[in-house]
Amino acid sequence: MSAPPPTLDDRPDLRALTLDEAQAVAVTLGLPRFRGEQAWRWVHGKGATSWDEMSNIGPAVRDRLAAGIRIGTLVVAEVQRSRDGTIKLRFTTRDGFAIESVLIPDGDKTTQCISSQVGCAVDCQFCATAKLGLTRNLDPGEIADQVYRAKALLAAEDPGGSGRRITNLVYMGMGEPLHNYDNVMRSLRILTHDLGAGLSQRRITVSTAGLVPRLEKLGAEDVRPNLAVSLNASNDRVRDAIMPINKKWNIGKLLAAIRAYPLEHRRRVTFEYVLLADVNDSLAAAGELAQLLRGHRCKVNLIPFNPHPEAAYRRPSSEAIEAFQSECKRLGLPTYLRTPRGDDIDAACGQLANRSNGELLVPLRRKHVAASSAPPAPDVE
Ligand code: SF4
Repeated sequence: MSAPPPTLDDRPDLRALTLDEAQAVAVTLGLPRFRGEQAWRWVHGKGATSWDEMSNIGPAVRDRLAAGIRIGTLVVAEVQRSRDGTIKLRFTTRDGFAIESVLIPDGDKTTQCISSQVGCAVDCQFCATAKLGLTRNLDPGEIADQVYRAKALLAAEDPGGSGRRITNLVYMGMGEPLHNYDNVMRSLRILTHDLGAGLSQRRITVSTAGLVPRLEKLGAEDVRPNLAVSLNASNDRVRDAIMPINKKWNIGKLLAAIRAYPLEHRRRVTFEYVLLADVNDSLAAAGELAQLLRGHRCKVNLIPFNPHPEAAYRRPSSEAIEAFQSECKRLGLPTYLRTPRGDDIDAACGQLANRSNGELLVPLRRKHVAASSAPPAPDVE
């Protein structure tokens, strides 16, 4: 007995297919492989969202393709613009969930920060996304489509076509990318394909809170993005308190995995260090950090905490930030200070929680700690 014809929902989403898969689906629909490639190039190379846009494919072939493949798209629910030029996009998924993505212009470069999950299961205490809890993983098409929708927005703002384009991509938005490993890897293969968006893997960074076994797996992949690790502490006592994942994979295990990570020539691991006043910003912590990372091919991005109502921490004073950085540099640790971007629209690092004009659009699932009942700040021994 033959299988029943696919219902609308059974059709694979062209956004989530690799080129090979799209070609194979075309064959199952009784079409030559190149028809799958043509359609794939429209969606992944040109950002098409409908069959009607595919002007080099005749209507009869489009109908055949549409019978077996759907073209999903994220809906742009809101575009918020910061006074510093940062743009925050809120998207709605097909099943009605909200995710966010941020475009950060910097000179002639534009970096897009994309989400990999609806919410996040990793409970970093300083992060607004953590308070949403995890709803579900994004599929590869939803991850890639954040880039296509952002490109469409930039193109619409500059119809001449010679203006801003996305040059760098960071998986640092909502979610822990390595918790959604397979879909993130598929999205990387799709986004770096020459016939699609054609992004260079050297310009893509995946940031992790430190899922050690997945770091080992990532190191063995043929597509290997730059690696950023959210470290945020110079010892296990502080990291246990602000990043509970450390209780499972402590700093020693994390750094051993990073040391084993194969780095190409002239590439370095980036350690992110969110500076929290009276928690991890002392000169002793800077010294401990420099000691910890000695011998690693790395740099440290210092990120002064971006306040939000879901966390009780404070940003250190500019003097404390400067002193911390100077001490790291004095001890030979390459350290860069990240200027907060988009904090007036809740788009800065650690602030993504589907907030519009200061209002939460999605209820938080995790308890939010009021400033008055903040846990005592762990100090550095
Ligand atoms: S910092 Fe990243 S990994 Fe940690 S809770 Fe936030 S989104 Fe998740």
